[in-house]
Amino acid sequence: MAMDVSDVKKKISYSAMQPTGLPHLGNYLGALKNWVSLQDEYRCIYCIANLHSITVRQDPVNLRKRTRDLFMLYLAMGIDPKRSLLYFQSAVPPHAELAWILNCYTYMGELGRMTQYKDKSQKHSDNINAGLFSYPVLMSADILLYSSDVVPIGEDQRQHLEICRDIASRFNNIYGDVFVVPEAYIGKIAARVMGLQEPEKKMSKSDGDNENNLVYLLDKPEVIISKFKRAVTDSGNEIKYAPDKPGISNLLSIYCAVTGEKPEAAESKFAGKGYGDFKLIVGETVAESVRPIQQKFNELSKNKDYVDALIRSNTEQTNALAQRMLTKVKKKVGFPIV
Ligand code: ATP
Ligand code: MG
Repeated sequence: MAMDVSDVKKKISYSAMQPTGLPHLGNYLGALKNWVSLQDEYRCIYCIANLHSITVRQDPVNLRKRTRDLFMLYLAMGIDPKRSLLYFQSAVPPHAELAWILNCYTYMGELGRMTQYKDKSQKHSDNINAGLFSYPVLMSADILLYSSDVVPIGEDQRQHLEICRDIASRFNNIYGDVFVVPEAYIGKIAARVMGLQEPEKKMSKSDGDNENNLVYLLDKPEVIISKFKRAVTDSGNEIKYAPDKPGISNLLSIYCAVTGEKPEAAESKFAGKGYGDFKLIVGETVAESVRPIQQKFNELSKNKDYVDALIRSNTEQTNALAQRMLTKVKKKVGFPIV
């Protein structure tokens, strides 16, 4: 049985991830890890944002596989289908419908200021499509469809959440209180995990050209350890947080996010150690922490019927929920409900 959506007492937490690649440590520490604990306090809705993912060209066979793998990974991480909803965005048409409507309440100027749009247009200069530009509108539709109170995200998505809040308030000002204006939920540690080879840039799924830059949740333990051993460090030999030490600071953040240790405690623990030993310990700690997730993922991969049944029942429930809000919005803007 999936979650009882009629329970309105708990607040709603909503989040999504694109199946543009398998999740990496940034996705895990910046977002996914928080998703699991939020289930105690909130009704959680977790989307696999495959509509968003085609803003960058995808291979259809890979995309289909990664979409399903991500569903299983949510489960493996501890998203509990008895308490939370999880679904594919493409299987819930109200997302695209509401996005169209909200497009008409969003200004070109505000979308043009988005740094993700600027970054991705630069990276994919041969494919600067309209979807890439209106990405934050679809993201707003995702969030607003479910009257979400909080949205756990990494730091890079803060700007998109701001635009969502602006769109919701603008719509409410015209039509009355239709949408809940959501709050961002951004963790304190590892809200922005940087690449292991390029610690000045955030770790991103779609930047898979340099494999050693990203640590994937499903990388084998020995691969994880070897990627950490090769991580770029900084000049000097001290293990401490510092603006001129992006590599070491990133490794410390990763270590603290995984273990729950305070930054100062981690600094004193590693005081006097060499960079090589430090990188090895961080690598081993990360590898150990993802081991149970990998085990669960492998079990689920063998349990096709169970996963298929969950996908079906969750899709049905999510559609029912999304339709409610879409109908409300259609009435407000003056579309006949037939
Ligand atoms: P893409 O490169 O395709 O945009 P991505 O790695 O940015 O992929 P998304 O699916 O866009 O991942 O984002 C999913 C969630 O992970 C979001 O909440 C986002 O803020 C968070 N996130 C992404 N990268 C990082 C990172 N390096 N550190 C912390 N959180 C991150
Ligand atoms: Mg992203």
